[in-house]
Amino acid sequence: MTRPARAFIDLAALRHNFQQVRERASGCRVLAVVKADAYGHGAGAVATALEDADGFAVARVQEGRELRALGIDRPVVLLSGVSSEQELADAAELRLDLVVHHDSQTAALERAALREPVGVWVKVDTGMHRLGLAPERVPDTWRRLEACPSVAAPLRLMTHLARADERGDPSTADQITRFMSLAQAAGAETSLANSAGVLAWPAAHGHWVRPGIMLYGISPFVGGRGEADGLRPVMTFASRLIAVNRLSKGDAIGYGGTWTCPEDMPVGVVAVGYGDGYPRHAPAGTPVLVNGTRVALIGRVSMDLVTVDLRPQPAAAPGDPVVLWGRGLPAEEIAEHVGSIGYELVTRVAPRVARVTREFVETGDAQSPSASAGESR
Ligand SMILES: *Cc1c(COP(=O)(O)O)cnc(C)c1O
Repeated sequence: MTRPARAFIDLAALRHNFQQVRERASGCRVLAVVKADAYGHGAGAVATALEDADGFAVARVQEGRELRALGIDRPVVLLSGVSSEQELADAAELRLDLVVHHDSQTAALERAALREPVGVWVKVDTGMHRLGLAPERVPDTWRRLEACPSVAAPLRLMTHLARADERGDPSTADQITRFMSLAQAAGAETSLANSAGVLAWPAAHGHWVRPGIMLYGISPFVGGRGEADGLRPVMTFASRLIAVNRLSKGDAIGYGGTWTCPEDMPVGVVAVGYGDGYPRHAPAGTPVLVNGTRVALIGRVSMDLVTVDLRPQPAAAPGDPVVLWGRGLPAEEIAEHVGSIGYELVTRVAPRVARVTREFVETGDAQSPSASAGESR
């Protein structure tokens, strides 16, 4: 038998979430962000399912290559741009659009003699202070790139928002104002909005939006839940009980014996651990669904196994279905228990966990590894 830990990927939920982007940012073109293997969901399956996206955004040349290998012909934007002549040649060969955020990239394009010109998005730093040209550098860079034979017209202008996930934060309004005045001067098509920008900052929609996490049904907001914004979780990370032990009052569980049974009680052992991407620092009390009912994680997370308090599920037996997050248990909630964000949890699901793509994932269905379809990896 294959390992029971699976990540079920609900393509209907993905399309539903994409439709939410369309409704929130009506009239905008949508670059679906599929970097880091579509935040752990499987970039090939996600990009193939999003027939309606106007383009895709990736972080690495290799990620763009994977989309092209699937026959995806729409624009693919390389968010970090290129950092060597080899990468520039590879990206051009793959017809990836480049982000130019640094003078060295402008100079590399001027030196290159590309057979076909590449699309370019000029990235300006309006307050994130990570990647981007200083605003005063934009007019000169713009002129150089417009004159560059290796660059295709039209140039586009983009920026990234630092605090869009804090609804109403004044620094986001400042970033938008600064950006829009530059864009107006350049007369360019614009892109500013990540998921939080799409959901909370209509003034940031511009011409092209760049949602990532909301496509996967997870809230970008601090303390938020995707469901509150009409989103549905795409990934359900599931496994099974492989043992149920009747332990005695005083028995200490797992490495370090960090949790001691307060009474005689059933303890379940689930076939999932940090080797599958379940966070090792998840504390006792982190919720887990067993047979659709919440129980608490107890003891330390080990590489292949975790232990759960089965007192709320005394009849649970080996083979019973377990959900770590997804349908019925928001990844955002687990992230709060472990001091992380939903983004990190889904992105870190390990390659050894099979992604099982489904048209619909029902809660009962999601827990049934035997009924798998479209399994990969
Ligand atoms: C990752 C990323 C996005 C998507 O962000 P979400 O918060 O996942 O929507 C958009 N733009 C850039 C430049 C990014 O790096």
